[in-house]
Amino acid sequence: MDSDLAITFRGVRGSYPVPGTDTIRFGGNTPCIEVRAGGHLIIIDAGTGIIALGSDLVRAYFQRPAAERGRLHLTILLSHMHHDHIQGYPFFAPLYLAQTTAHVLGPRMLREDLAAALSGAMVAPYFPVDAESLACERHIRNISEADVVLFPSATQSLDPRVERATDANTQDAQVVVRAYHSQNHPRGGVFCYRIECGGKSLVYASDTEGYAGGDQRLIRFAEGADLLVHDAQYRASEYIHGLKQGWGHSTVDMAVEVAQAANVERLALFHHAPTNDDTVVAEMEREAQAQFPSSFAAYEGLTLSL
Ligand SMILES: [Zn+2]
Ligand SMILES: [Zn+2]
Repeated sequence: MDSDLAITFRGVRGSYPVPGTDTIRFGGNTPCIEVRAGGHLIIIDAGTGIIALGSDLVRAYFQRPAAERGRLHLTILLSHMHHDHIQGYPFFAPLYLAQTTAHVLGPRMLREDLAAALSGAMVAPYFPVDAESLACERHIRNISEADVVLFPSATQSLDPRVERATDANTQDAQVVVRAYHSQNHPRGGVFCYRIECGGKSLVYASDTEGYAGGDQRLIRFAEGADLLVHDAQYRASEYIHGLKQGWGHSTVDMAVEVAQAANVERLALFHHAPTNDDTVVAEMEREAQAQFPSSFAAYEGLTLSL
């Protein structure tokens, strides 16, 4: 339906991929969330989780009768340019298809345009294909937290448009995306996103570290969301005794604090530390549920309808 908002976790692991028997339950791929919103495909972050999504999209595209294919439209929202959030981008199969129209939106970090930063991730000697030679149609654009991204009804157009939030007419949009530039992540901060569709809302806040009393701007940004996906890389003991303060990631308690103060419906613990196996992540899930019963640890392959 046009008003539906659903997500699938494609990668939930922080920092670097960890395949293996110890991470089977929650998954080893780095951040990527597939969002289906009112007939639009929006992908948050391009960690290694985006690779299998890309294969699925291409397969589904060619399974359709040729006359019904049209173009493969998608929008990627990037939170920041750290490796774990873009390392799947060069392997994302739809980029190599001439039939794809890809919009890539994200912050300008450390005075570098998004397009230049992405090109820098696909250049010799680090990668054999230059970003400029990809076959798809690409629209790569910096956005700021003063902008709003609007998607019209999917029957009219599958292309988003970016407008200044103060002037934008959000009433006519099928999907509205807002950004919050959190500064509590090293070297440039990170973008958090809020996606609204048909009265439902999703907030993505990965790679962010809590403040004492909770990040008040994030709490306002996430107010009343149906689902908050929040960084929960550490346990409190590891955060303090492992000297992880200032690394730009949160504890389970910090994620719960934001969820409670923002009155969200559900909390997904996200960006699991690569050093934490399934047993530890399950324990962290129980710690969160003891304080906020509708919380859970995100796992790869989990689909939720909001
Ligand atoms: Zn990360
Ligand atoms: Zn990061």
